[in-house]
Amino acid sequence: MKTFSDPQKLQKWSEARRLAGARIALVPTMGALHEGHLSLIAAAKRRGADEIVVSVFVNPTQFGPKEDYAQYPRDHRADAAKCRRAGATAIFFPTPANMYAPDHSVWVVEDGALSDCLCGARRPGHFRGVCTVVAKLFNLVRPHLAVFGQKDFQQATIIRRMVRDLNFGIDIVVAPIVREPSGLARSSRNAYLSDAERANALALSQSLAALKPGSWAAQKRRTERYLAAHGLKVDYVEAVDAETLAPVKSVRKGVAVLLAAFDGKTRLIDNRLF
Ligand code: AMP
Repeated sequence: MKTFSDPQKLQKWSEARRLAGARIALVPTMGALHEGHLSLIAAAKRRGADEIVVSVFVNPTQFGPKEDYAQYPRDHRADAAKCRRAGATAIFFPTPANMYAPDHSVWVVEDGALSDCLCGARRPGHFRGVCTVVAKLFNLVRPHLAVFGQKDFQQATIIRRMVRDLNFGIDIVVAPIVREPSGLARSSRNAYLSDAERANALALSQSLAALKPGSWAAQKRRTERYLAAHGLKVDYVEAVDAETLAPVKSVRKGVAVLLAAFDGKTRLIDNRLF
């Protein structure tokens, strides 16, 4: 497995592999890799990628000033070992300084209805940071396909739109949510949870599992009560059209129910696609 930290070196290598006929997959991550991330590498493999590039970058521009950028878990050595075992062929560990010039001034913004709701409404600038860094990674690697997780449903929806609207010509694969046996969606941020908080966090997946097709209003109220009863502070509970992210009044095929809640100081998200 190749290791890169210099964006130019990665770009040169990837260009050479592309010219040699290799099918290239990109898996963007923030590291502290877990089974969820590794499932994205497996999805790239199943799609016949010859080169699977995993980027590990805690992207400062997608964190708000009061968010967990400084304490976000970082373990490059463990991440490299996991990537190698999972079949990645290259790993990219850039630094903020080599991803962003001191006078960086060009941003990629989804300027429609996809970013001003759900996590976008609560985390101003988050998706601007995400779109910009993913566009930069696309330009560095020029992959044929890129794999994202359904765990970050709104992110995957916005990236698909960015690829369509800016003609990146990259296949976007969205892989299912990988969960712990308890049902808790795997997340690097689960490392922040105490035992008691971890027990409370189960309410997220449990409340999603309890949902049924049909009218949303009463189910929304029940979900909010259930989360609160388990000590979680609800950030949002929404049922939306899976393509447009517009709110809907009833749960049916093509609807996604998305949750965000604070478990102590840790903000957790989960979702279910009907
Ligand atoms: P992150 O490192 O949290 O930014 O996530 C990097 C990628 O892994 C994103 O596309 C996430 O949606 C995906 N991912 C994170 N957790 C999971 C999970 N439990 N199951 C599937 N994909 C995940």
